[in-house]
Amino acid sequence: MKKKMFVSIASFFCVGLLAAQEKQSTETPEQQAAKTEVWSPVPKKVDAAVKTSEPPADAYVLFNGKSLNEWVLTSHPDQMATWIINKDGSMMVNKNAGNIQTKKSFTDYQLHLEFKIPATITGEGQARGNSGLFLASTGSGDAGYEIQILDNYTNKTYVNGQCGSVYKQFPPLVNACRKAGEWQSYDIIWTAPRFNEDGSLKSPARVTVFQNGILVQNNTELKGETRWIGTPEYHKHGACPIKLQAHGDKSEPISFRNIWVREL
Ligand code: MG
Repeated sequence: MKKKMFVSIASFFCVGLLAAQEKQSTETPEQQAAKTEVWSPVPKKVDAAVKTSEPPADAYVLFNGKSLNEWVLTSHPDQMATWIINKDGSMMVNKNAGNIQTKKSFTDYQLHLEFKIPATITGEGQARGNSGLFLASTGSGDAGYEIQILDNYTNKTYVNGQCGSVYKQFPPLVNACRKAGEWQSYDIIWTAPRFNEDGSLKSPARVTVFQNGILVQNNTELKGETRWIGTPEYHKHGACPIKLQAHGDKSEPISFRNIWVREL
């Protein structure tokens, strides 16, 4: 009798567990991803002053408008990046080529980068000028730590996925976006995470980000690598390339210029 009762209780829980799994598996990736979106409070809008920043004397120049020599395809790191160099000396995302990353690997650094979302941009939410700056490319695809690039001058999306966010981790302190069609800048101080021999985390990654000269991330302590679905996690790595995202959205491709880094 006791055994019979145990069996029926056990099967009740099994059925429950299966039902829960069943429920989970019916969710689309978009529904799963929506669980880590944050929509409020919305960062205050602050207008930026106009300024560009030339590389200082000790900077390592990653892109100066002439060639993509410092960049390779993330999918084939033995092949040179095949993004497009525009006549004005900027480089434009080639969505067919996918993400690109630096040949060189970095640990801690100061970085300057400028980007322009085309004035003709269309789309909404995450599909409006989406790209991204991965401060350490820890693997193929979108593996790493992403500072979001997106047109959020007026475009609404979840705040932990808007421009200036540590994607799906921390919204920007304010919305420092300029209008599409205007050049914008990121100035970043990146402190890479450190790991113990056994792979456990010794110290988390930290990032300070100025967008158009306005502080949007203040020595933010990252929770781990960027995840579109699920929660961020750390995995042991050393020095890594810096990566730029060719996002799969259908909106017009964005451009970059004046990219340099100072190793710390
Ligand atoms: Mg992105």
